[in-house]
Amino acid sequence: MSTVTHTLDPDTLPVAVRPAFEAVLRRNPGEPEFHQAVHEVLASIAPVVQEHPHYLEDGILERLVEPERQIIFRVPWMDDNGRVQVNRGYRVQFSSVLGPYKGGLRFHPSVNSSIIKFLGFEQIFKNALTAQGIGGGKGGSDFDPHNRSDGEIMRFCQSFMNELYRHLGEHTDVPAGDIGVGAREIGFLFGQYRKITNRHESGMFTGKGTGWGGAEVRTEATGYGTVYFVQEMLAVRNKSLAGRRVLVSGSGNVALYAIEKAQQLDALPITASDSSGYVVDDAGIDLDLLKEVKEEERLRISVYADRRPSARFVPGRRVWEVPGEIALPCATQNELDGDDASALIRSGVVAVAEGANMPSLPEAVHAFQSAGVLFAPGKAANAGGVATSALEMSQNAARQRWSFADSERKLHHIMQSMHEAAYVAAERYGNPGDYVIGANCAAFVKVADAMIAQGVI
Ligand code: NDP
Repeated sequence: MSTVTHTLDPDTLPVAVRPAFEAVLRRNPGEPEFHQAVHEVLASIAPVVQEHPHYLEDGILERLVEPERQIIFRVPWMDDNGRVQVNRGYRVQFSSVLGPYKGGLRFHPSVNSSIIKFLGFEQIFKNALTAQGIGGGKGGSDFDPHNRSDGEIMRFCQSFMNELYRHLGEHTDVPAGDIGVGAREIGFLFGQYRKITNRHESGMFTGKGTGWGGAEVRTEATGYGTVYFVQEMLAVRNKSLAGRRVLVSGSGNVALYAIEKAQQLDALPITASDSSGYVVDDAGIDLDLLKEVKEEERLRISVYADRRPSARFVPGRRVWEVPGEIALPCATQNELDGDDASALIRSGVVAVAEGANMPSLPEAVHAFQSAGVLFAPGKAANAGGVATSALEMSQNAARQRWSFADSERKLHHIMQSMHEAAYVAAERYGNPGDYVIGANCAAFVKVADAMIAQGVI
């Protein structure tokens, strides 16, 4: 993983938005990921506030960059050897102006305040873009689920929920999964919430098992949605995915289903990775085998190459050195830097869409846009997951269950609408084809208008 290398000097921002960024730097020292996410949004929305100065009144920007509430708590649990372990839990409730706080939980050793705040801040805009009436939040822990037994995972999740439950609820805050939090963890977390509160409150968690309140397509939604977004970007330019070599990083939830949808649309995904390195398979990824290795057996990615003659494992390196036309970073933040972008541009990449949250460093985004490569930021491209979570909330509230086909149609329609919103806003604010500016401006206007309507609170 790379670190931020470009300057985050407030002077690089238009004067109108500088005070909000200065407040972020002052209040959140040593939090580079959060600074990076705020800087990108403030730089993007400058054309909106220049044209509509009323958005600078009532401290809209200063309020937007300050979470409504931040919860940090101790998570003690007992490992299989009878030793007490202590982790730190987080929930940052960033904005509820458009609906209950909504955003995933991440269990990964790299989790800290900066990571959770960057993700929570991004989530405000992503959720606004979905137009599903959901606010922004994020949470997690520095707990590492790798190599832990099911019993250890369960005890950790129960301890985590022993504190978090009091801050959740279907009308208050609705978590979901993220890195390290999949079906198993969501089951344990939901079970403990039910036990403590004596309420089977389906709408307080999304990503549940389909047998107990979960929605069809939620598992697939983020990966599918990312590929749908690429399909839209290409379609408005009379291009298609068919036959194109697709580079995917990661091999978790988002990556697996991005590969699945790309294959269904006749593209050729040829890579997958994890933190140990990547595999490249010129015959095209064998998805059943990849799921067997990563989802069922929870093994390292090299095992895929051990079992597949057409594939090879490249340790300790990133997939971006492989030639391809479509790049889908689906692992984690800051996994694609300026050098990676240059390599992709040299090899003829046509479109990049972020399945992960903020996987591209600012210099990589700049390089893609300068080279005329279509670039979809995560807050638009990967919003299919949270949009389908909102569909899960609707089904829970109405005590309904929609079919897979129906849910997928709705997801597809939402991705088309988000593409349209970002595309139109980019043109409207003088930067046609710039989906970063388009997504940020379209989302900002929705959030800011609601904040103005609801008063200074
Ligand atoms: P998973 O835990 O299912 O998979 C994460 C994948 O990324 C694994 O292959 C993991 O490898 C790899 N990875 C994680 N951290 C690192 C790292 N520091 N360096 C290299 N590889 C790493 O997570 P998801 O697929 O759910 O999430 C992936 C990304 O998508 C995240 O940025 C998440 O925030 C974003 N996202 C997810 C959504 C969802 O619905 N799940 C919704 C929207 C965004 P290893 O096992 O070796 O760690």
